[in-house]
Amino acid sequence: MSVGIISHFACQAHDMGEHHPESPDRLPAIQNQLISSGLDFVTRQYDAIPIDRKLLGLVHDPAYIAYIFDNAPSEGYAQIGEDAVMNPHTLSAALHAAGAAVQAVDLVMKEELKVAFCATRPPGHHAERKSAMGFCFFNNIAIAAAYARQHYQLSRVAIVDFDVHHGNGTEDIFTDEPNVLFCSSFQHPFYPFSGTEPTSANIINTPLDASASSNEFRQVITDRWLPALNAFKPEMIFISAGFDAHAEDDMSQVRLYDNDYRWVSEQLRAVAKQHSKGRIVSVLEGGYDLSSLGRSVAAHINGLIGY
Ligand SMILES: [Zn+2]
Repeated sequence: MSVGIISHFACQAHDMGEHHPESPDRLPAIQNQLISSGLDFVTRQYDAIPIDRKLLGLVHDPAYIAYIFDNAPSEGYAQIGEDAVMNPHTLSAALHAAGAAVQAVDLVMKEELKVAFCATRPPGHHAERKSAMGFCFFNNIAIAAAYARQHYQLSRVAIVDFDVHHGNGTEDIFTDEPNVLFCSSFQHPFYPFSGTEPTSANIINTPLDASASSNEFRQVITDRWLPALNAFKPEMIFISAGFDAHAEDDMSQVRLYDNDYRWVSEQLRAVAKQHSKGRIVSVLEGGYDLSSLGRSVAAHINGLIGY
């Protein structure tokens, strides 16, 4: 099976200040672990292509897109949202991150790849239709899913999100959109304190207690996600792949381990094989402890490959 990793040096130049957890070091930590796991031999590497500005409009409000472009600083930092800060390289990084997700759809739909993983930043799943949120500017996974629907006329796509934070931006964009199934697991109560009120039938939210570990995580995937995915029969599966629920990651209290990321990836691979011609596009979200981030991405890719 051909698997691709899409990344770009531009995504490393974005930073939100010294000692910020969403740091440029996350990407080399992933690349180093892919090399030491031998995964660089079985994956194809691609340079991300920046997104065409008009494709951002698939999920974002035109005034919001203009706001981001107009406020990108030429020097210093610009505060865009409560937790979102731009430096002079952020706009380029964000355009490459969103572009990678679109490119991943093209590579998979044209059957050059079965599976594509975007090792990119800034992340995207908190970005709503009209606002930056968390450490996110453009909702990369939502743009990719909307692009697959529009450009390739896919009638059903699924987005699953195992980041420890609720994918509020993705939910905001696809509420009442029956052709997009969205499943999100997250610690609750926890930032961004959303996802527990039912919104629409296509949204499957599975909150986890702070004390949750492997068993609770695997239970909600088995009991809630997999039946919903199998009933929905998506033509492509998108993964908001955040690794901040790892036991070694100080960002949260939930305790998952490398093998849990491998396991959930194997489950998603099985669903994709059955319903989606094996098509999977996975995009990096959170994951702030550099060692467990690198190992978890390797476990995720191994699970997707069935290696
Ligand atoms: Zn997160």
